[in-house]
Amino acid sequence: MTAQHPAPPFDTWLWMQAWSETWCAGLDPAGAGQRLRAQRLARLIDATLSGSPFYRRRHPGAHELADFRPVSKAELMAHFDDWATDRRITRAAAQAFVADPACIADGWLGNYLLWTSSGTSGEPGVFVQDARSLAAYDAIDALRLRGAGPGQVSLGSWGARQRFAFVGATGGHFAGVVSMERLRRLVPAALAPEIRVLSVLEPLCDVAQALQAQQPSVLITYPSCAAALARLQEAGQLRLALKEVWTGGEQLSAEQRQQIQAAFGCPVRNNYGASEFFTIAWECAHGELHLNDDWLVLEPVDERLRPLPVGEMSHSTLLTNLANLTQPLLRYQLGDRVRRVAERCSCGSAFPLIEVQGRADDTLRLRDAQHRPVTILPLALETAIEEGAHVTQFQALCGSDGDSIELRFEASVGDARAAFTQSRRALADFLAHHGVSGTRISMSAAEPLRQRASGKLRRVVMLPAAPVRRKPPARAPARR
Ligand SMILES: [Zn+2]
Repeated sequence: MTAQHPAPPFDTWLWMQAWSETWCAGLDPAGAGQRLRAQRLARLIDATLSGSPFYRRRHPGAHELADFRPVSKAELMAHFDDWATDRRITRAAAQAFVADPACIADGWLGNYLLWTSSGTSGEPGVFVQDARSLAAYDAIDALRLRGAGPGQVSLGSWGARQRFAFVGATGGHFAGVVSMERLRRLVPAALAPEIRVLSVLEPLCDVAQALQAQQPSVLITYPSCAAALARLQEAGQLRLALKEVWTGGEQLSAEQRQQIQAAFGCPVRNNYGASEFFTIAWECAHGELHLNDDWLVLEPVDERLRPLPVGEMSHSTLLTNLANLTQPLLRYQLGDRVRRVAERCSCGSAFPLIEVQGRADDTLRLRDAQHRPVTILPLALETAIEEGAHVTQFQALCGSDGDSIELRFEASVGDARAAFTQSRRALADFLAHHGVSGTRISMSAAEPLRQRASGKLRRVVMLPAAPVRRKPPARAPARR
């Protein structure tokens, strides 16, 4: 690799170690897995307190995990230069690196990988992955996420000789696309899967056309995108012979799963991950999410960030990444709603089960100039505004007729009028690129709508059609 593009980090020794430990923990999660977890936690606390000025200042005399107060992304980003255990890691240097899309998956400072999170939770994050954490993510993906379940065929750890199509957020150092590029550059050409990366921001018909030409064996994308492609496959506008569909990044509903499986006639494998830990939980062949709790600690917490007992759906979640000793995350507020499930899974794995209540935004159906339907994926719309207008705290409400989109902004957005001007421009460009015509974009000063049960914000919402006036029924229907 040239000096301008150093190879992505890969440490053979750490990789073999992570592989064998992950394998052993899989044989005995409650015994070997928990022993490894305890060792890793002690090592993380040691490395953090000796190497991170930020944590040392914040927690003098800390000994165990419970001694660490929950920490937010905003706080860590504000203390970026003091956060890592390697003093060469500074915010200025990291941001200069991620500003250049040409160096995606390049080794940074010798042996780190950098990726950024989108700003959907308010503030974009920059995450440094060391060789140890990458080795752990690789081992988890190969042995658990991509491992063969009962009645399933393993596609092999690196997807050797498969044809991967990745439809996701591209054009920036996002975890998914960085990982794909790292895979492409690390695996010898004879064994490497063929990888096609497509932008989820492109019109769905263009994405479908590219997929049709490539004929991937594995489709890797968001549930909303997989479901939209499944509709095209059902309609005969797409003819893919897939072996598997891998989804992540959004909530996968039972309806979406059924639709994707039926249209493509292949298994759907879902996972729950984040920029802060690549695969937090993986889905087994029984469709349940198992927590990788030998490599991380996940604490469901209430509104005041106090740990909740098993069985209760949380308000937020604290993540401790036991693999990354360079940019430590201890009791980091991940924000997701998670429930620990007490029961053991019928698949036989003793890794604990969780349920995740992710954000479930709506896929929009707008129209082109000839009044033909145009599918707009929520993640694409969000990314268009985030990247094009640098606004993250918004909500787009689409009228049921698909003719209007109302933008609302959270109170924390200082100048909502300026945010609207920028967002409208970015959104109008995005819609025009998709051939959408005649959709009015307006601003409302009202508060964004929140989900009644959780209080969480959905960014992209299709409003239900106004009820049609009918003769009142003889007796009021039961409330649901
Ligand atoms: Zn299971």
